[in-house]
Amino acid sequence: MNVHDSEQMEALLMKEGFRITDTDKSADLIIVNTCSIREKAEQKVYSILGRYRGLKQARPGMIIGVGGCMAQQKGAELFARAPYIDFVFGTHNIHRLPEIVKDVERNRARRVETCFHDTVYSIGIVTPPHNGSVSSFVTIMQGCNNFCSFCVVPYLRGREESRELKDIVDEITILASHGVKEVTLLGQNVNSYGNTLHNGADFPSLLKKIGDIEGIERIRFTTSHPKDLSDGLIECFATVDKLCEHIHLPVQSGSDSVLKRMNRRYDADDYLRKVNKLREVCPYISISTDFIVGFPGESESDFQKTIDLMEEVRFDNAFSFKYSARPGTAAEKLDDRIPEPVKRERLTRVQELQQIHTVEKNHALKGMVEDILVVGLSKNSHTDVSGRTKTNRIVNFEGERELIGKTVCVSIHNTYIHSLRGKLFEKERNQKC
Ligand code: SAH
Ligand code: SF4
Repeated sequence: MNVHDSEQMEALLMKEGFRITDTDKSADLIIVNTCSIREKAEQKVYSILGRYRGLKQARPGMIIGVGGCMAQQKGAELFARAPYIDFVFGTHNIHRLPEIVKDVERNRARRVETCFHDTVYSIGIVTPPHNGSVSSFVTIMQGCNNFCSFCVVPYLRGREESRELKDIVDEITILASHGVKEVTLLGQNVNSYGNTLHNGADFPSLLKKIGDIEGIERIRFTTSHPKDLSDGLIECFATVDKLCEHIHLPVQSGSDSVLKRMNRRYDADDYLRKVNKLREVCPYISISTDFIVGFPGESESDFQKTIDLMEEVRFDNAFSFKYSARPGTAAEKLDDRIPEPVKRERLTRVQELQQIHTVEKNHALKGMVEDILVVGLSKNSHTDVSGRTKTNRIVNFEGERELIGKTVCVSIHNTYIHSLRGKLFEKERNQKC
């Protein structure tokens, strides 16, 4: 989501005549887009800002702006920490970036823009596809109403708001006309898409409409809250051909008491039932997830339930985090904090087990033929191209640049933890969802 926010900032500034520079040293304007989801992300921002102090001293005429969640949270406080910053703009003020930059340029005025608006205008900032880009992000909603007790998002991005279905379809139609083949629909909880529109639009109907757009071959989305994963959406994995066989479904914990204190509003059995339904409808679906370890009060037996759930589901992939107390959230006030070494040890256990499962799942693809949408040259070799399976695995194989944008059959020869290696194959894929 943050990557796409940066793309939107870039699109707005390009319209004003700005261009991306090769290095920050030659930039007239630097925008630091920040994240506050965990404390570690904040520390990273301070260290990046520290690097820019010297740049500003050497070229006082340059402008430095800070945007995103941390800008929303800290506002003018950031000036105290980094006095060489020129402006701070929050999550609802991305659309005002050109005007703010102009004001700072002209008046050398310091600006802080962190107020929330009833309409989140940035929802509709269309980012023109980069030349030759095959895959694009598209925002379908902003904000979140769920208030999971650990999470700052509802406080920093505001209440949930869905974008009009027609605007989304129009944007994707334009993307398709520029050669985009794959879209990833973005929202904190795409399953509740449409709730604020009051016109009958919902996420399954949006998927069907996008499925009809000529030129679009693949649809992905992120993120799905398990409590709102409806049977209607699960059915889409069987009925919307272009929908990729992958879902990111963050479970956070396998313990019902931890899930309750997290205010996630599902229990481990609900989650397992939904996983089973997904696999009934789409046997090859890959399922990834997020875990938080060391949530306040997480006992060893609670943690063991997370491990048990992992063994039962055998996720294809997972992101795991140590709980980080965030200011203003309900969980920040909970007692029974888990000591850092215990969190660290639990994180290692989750990551080691997930590694085994990911390697095992990838290994099962050895010898299979997969449909690969080629998105670019491989990072590690200029004789290789790179793409993804419908199940969201990266595949590298020898091939010409001309393959970019095409969907080809590739037989899988070697599998690693983060990617697969294959060979162009002329026959049809032998396994289909
Ligand atoms: N909207 C998404 C999640 C967005 S945040 C959803 O509901 O799933 C991405 C992930 O960051 C979360 O799934 C969670 O695992 C992690 N996260 C959020 N707040 C956190 C915190 N305070 N400490 C540790 N991890 C956190
Ligand atoms: Fe945060 Fe929960 Fe909303 Fe996701 S659903 S953004 S974790 S409050």
